[in-house]
Amino acid sequence: PRMEADDIASAVREIVAFARPEMERAGLELVLDVDEDLPAALFDEGQIRQALLNVMRNAREAMSDGGRIDVSVRADGMSVAVGVDDRGGGIPDDVRARIFDPFFSTKGEGTGLGLAITRQIVEAHGGTISCEAREGGGTSFRILLPIAPHRL
Ligand code: ADP
Ligand code: MG
Repeated sequence: PRMEADDIASAVREIVAFARPEMERAGLELVLDVDEDLPAALFDEGQIRQALLNVMRNAREAMSDGGRIDVSVRADGMSVAVGVDDRGGGIPDDVRARIFDPFFSTKGEGTGLGLAITRQIVEAHGGTISCEAREGGGTSFRILLPIAPHRL
């Protein structure tokens, strides 16, 4: 990746603005919540856009009856955490163990590559991605990206 120290909150704002029309067409509300005074993160904007879109599109596909997707950007120690929370059907534990495997898909026409690529991108950034079941149903993805060693 072509890493630059940049404002991850603005990048996520732009990505969310880009995705909003397709989410609204699917009857989904996209809600963004960003911490103030976040440190700069080290990232390649094009790659992080691809990674986040993959996760947000999975959230859309998990919510065929509409609803709300929450995207957040928070300070988290030496990282910045980008969260995507949906209120879809969730992921059973045995399936969750495989979602990052290339070509693993539970969808009729899924490629099964979205999360494999997303994890590759995040790890190339020195970051991590995790997935948890949400209390009350749904799924939460969390991407941690290292903060830049100096302020912007
Ligand atoms: P694809 O979307 O092509 O199936 P992905 O790699 O993006 O491939 O996702 C792999 C699998 O992970 C999906 O088929 C689905 O079973 C599961 N998955 C990913 N995100 C979610 C989500 N938000 N809610 C429910 N299941 C999910
Ligand atoms: Mg996908």
